Amino acid sequence: MTLPFTLLIDPVPADSPRTDFSDTFHEVNSDAPALRVDDLSAQRGDGIFETLGFIDGSPQEVGPHIGRLCNSAEICELPAPNVAQWFAAITHAMERLPRTGEIALKIVLSRGVEPGPVATAWLQATAAPDFGPVRTDGVRAVTLDRGYPRGVAEQAPWLLMGAKTLSYAVNMAALREAKRRGADDTIFLTHDGFVLEGPTSSVVIRSGGVYVTPVPSGAILHGTTQQSVFEYLQAAGERTEYRDLTAPELRAADAVWLVSSIRMAVHVTELDGQSLPTDPERTLALNRHLLARTT
Ligand code: PLP
Repeated sequence: MTLPFTLLIDPVPADSPRTDFSDTFHEVNSDAPALRVDDLSAQRGDGIFETLGFIDGSPQEVGPHIGRLCNSAEICELPAPNVAQWFAAITHAMERLPRTGEIALKIVLSRGVEPGPVATAWLQATAAPDFGPVRTDGVRAVTLDRGYPRGVAEQAPWLLMGAKTLSYAVNMAALREAKRRGADDTIFLTHDGFVLEGPTSSVVIRSGGVYVTPVPSGAILHGTTQQSVFEYLQAAGERTEYRDLTAPELRAADAVWLVSSIRMAVHVTELDGQSLPTDPERTLALNRHLLARTT
């Protein structure tokens, strides 16, 4: 099977007693139209998604990604995903994908088509972008104000902070702003100066020998890669911590990484035009570990 590989999925209710979902999957030609223009994902970005790695024939963190899809569905008041069906869809795709190389598997649940609406869902596998160079060389980042104060998730739950929605226009605009400022990536801060996340990544720093990431309190995604990084570090005897992180701490860190499912780990070489210390050996070790995951 060549890439991209696209599978349309008829979502079944979460409490369905079914165990065989094969008749709910429909492979379609990736070049052919597959979505109605009045699908609310296309009309309003009203849906949720996950992207997970399929590396040299092994899927990565399937359970955590489906778990986060369920959490996003709850926040967005979408029908609860049928966990067994999503596992089956991913297995169905994996059995048809090349077993070498880095592949990105994107799974999407949309609110569907009005009136109704009945949820629509699909999976698409594509060749992953080549992150090899930045895994070695790192990236330059800028900090950008996300426009919200700390505590926004509790104060304004309708903003859907903490859900991985399809509405990534702001995230993409923040990456364009980084490029305009001569950098490669962005680290979002709250309006009152606390570190949040990147537009497509989690932030991990090492400060005083301790690996720290912001508390996933609802304003940011709880990154599956960040959790793998912490498990690896803890097993290696390192200290890890979830806590509030301020912009000055970021600038004074021993090292800063951006981590996410397809990129894995990249270190930040420059922040807002100022050089940052890096630990390329640690980056290499993290990537070796992250790329070798097999569940
Ligand atoms: N935060 C945001 C906004 C993201 O889009 C992503 C991934 O795309 C992450 C964090 C990292 O999540 P994960 O490590 O599960 O890919």
